[in-house]
Amino acid sequence: MTGKTITIIGGGLAGCEAAWQAAGRGCEVRLLEMKPRAFSPAHHSEGLAELVCSNSLRAADPHSAVGLLKEEMRRLGSLLMAAADATAVPAGRALAVDRDLFSNWVTARIASHPAITVVRQESITIPTPDEAQGGPIILATGPLTSAPLASALAAFTGGEHLAFYDAIAPIVAADSLDYDIVYSASRWEDGPGDYLNCPMDREQYLAFIAAVEGAAKVALKEFEEPRYFEGCLPVEVMVARGPETLRFGPMKPVGLRDPKNGREAYAVVQLRKENLEATQYNMVGFQTKLTYGEQQRIFRLIPGMARAEFTRLGSIHRNTFVNGPKVLLPTLQCRTRPDLLIAGQLSGVEGYVESTAMGLLAGINGARLVRGELPVTPPPDTAMGALVSHLTLETKNFQPSNVNFGLFPPFTHKIPKKLRGGKRAEVALASLAHWLREKHLEIPELPDHPAAAGTLPA
Ligand SMILES: Cc1cc2nc3c(=O)[nH]c(=O)nc-3n(C[C@H](O)[C@H](O)[C@H](O)COP(=O)(O)OP(=O)(O)OC[C@H]3O[C@@H](n4cnc5c(N)ncnc54)[C@H](O)[C@@H]3O)c2cc1C
Repeated sequence: MTGKTITIIGGGLAGCEAAWQAAGRGCEVRLLEMKPRAFSPAHHSEGLAELVCSNSLRAADPHSAVGLLKEEMRRLGSLLMAAADATAVPAGRALAVDRDLFSNWVTARIASHPAITVVRQESITIPTPDEAQGGPIILATGPLTSAPLASALAAFTGGEHLAFYDAIAPIVAADSLDYDIVYSASRWEDGPGDYLNCPMDREQYLAFIAAVEGAAKVALKEFEEPRYFEGCLPVEVMVARGPETLRFGPMKPVGLRDPKNGREAYAVVQLRKENLEATQYNMVGFQTKLTYGEQQRIFRLIPGMARAEFTRLGSIHRNTFVNGPKVLLPTLQCRTRPDLLIAGQLSGVEGYVESTAMGLLAGINGARLVRGELPVTPPPDTAMGALVSHLTLETKNFQPSNVNFGLFPPFTHKIPKKLRGGKRAEVALASLAHWLREKHLEIPELPDHPAAAGTLPA
């Protein structure tokens, strides 16, 4: 790589973090942001790093997956974590911020950084290497990437590897299921199959349908007009088409004989392995816009799921993201164009903190490319590394994910449930420290980071 300047497109959470990390490692950064010339349907302010919805960065406890991710980012000199700590508002066990102060805090530090030039301009194409003056490009335009750039990205990845909607079904922890009720079977196959099946009799099925019909749904945003793919309809939309629709769709019982009685049930909810270790299962065809509270209440009516713990709940919204396993290397470089890195929600993670974390990694690697160093990948037993594993491990049906302990490598020995979060944090932070030393990764200086930031010993 010959160029010294890194071009970053998108001045949101990931773009600002990437800019800070790269500039802090001695690189010149051009940060292109389309606001205020153009706004996505969810962005309203002129500031950088705008939080478009909730003001919460979720759990603060470093023994939770998202708390651990935040702690790792602090240790990597994250600008946005410093902003969050400096502008926090009381929110119980969550880290929540004053969104305007947060955005202003970040904007002021990015705008005044001598190595960062902010250009208020919409990018409508992916810059060629010449246009980027031979330097790396980081694409961080988020889930609502503007239409011309999204088309250019679809042309680059191949249309089938860029999604515009995110229709996700809930994921449930395997150890929260009742195995006296659920049984293994694949349709029409003899013997134990790859799926877990939750059988329902007629009465249970009708009660379930009535519960879905009466449930509270999340109101659609203006720009989330319900144009669903026929093969990916939300459960509540299927139920609205008639009480039998689910029984002839995702809850079809045929070919799924229950070994306990040798019979087919009236209806079946199928659960598909979400990871190789089979610690998590995806509810097949249960993408939904029911509120989170209603999903937990109603899906626990499903036989075998009365005590289900959900590691992710279902949702459907507009979301532009690449098919990570096909498009990305574990360094966030594109497989077919290593000078192009993809960060933030566009890379296939979900959530403010996760998007920022992928900006942080892209910023480190953009700087390493400029300096002629090999790009790096965090170890898989860290929260950052677990997210990268999710983005790049081959899978049939890639879907974005929040950080959660299900993405981490399994423990090699049994650990009581209550102690697992603490053990994860201990292993991850030690692994991160070792990685920093091994790769000689320096940490960009944070001039006015509040002392309160670190919550665990180094
Ligand atoms: C409506 C909505 C609500 C969400 N609510 C939450 C929530 O409550 N909690 C949560 O954790 N996550 C939420 N998310 C998911 C996600 O965490 C956020 O979208 C997050 O802001 C993603 O960070 P990012 O940096 O990838 O993108 P963004 O923060 O969206 O930043 C992208 C930036 O790129 C700019 N841009 C876009 N196209 C171009 C272009 N062509 N040229 C130049 N600039 C461009 C945009 O103006 C924007 O400033 C939500 C997403 C959406 C769409």
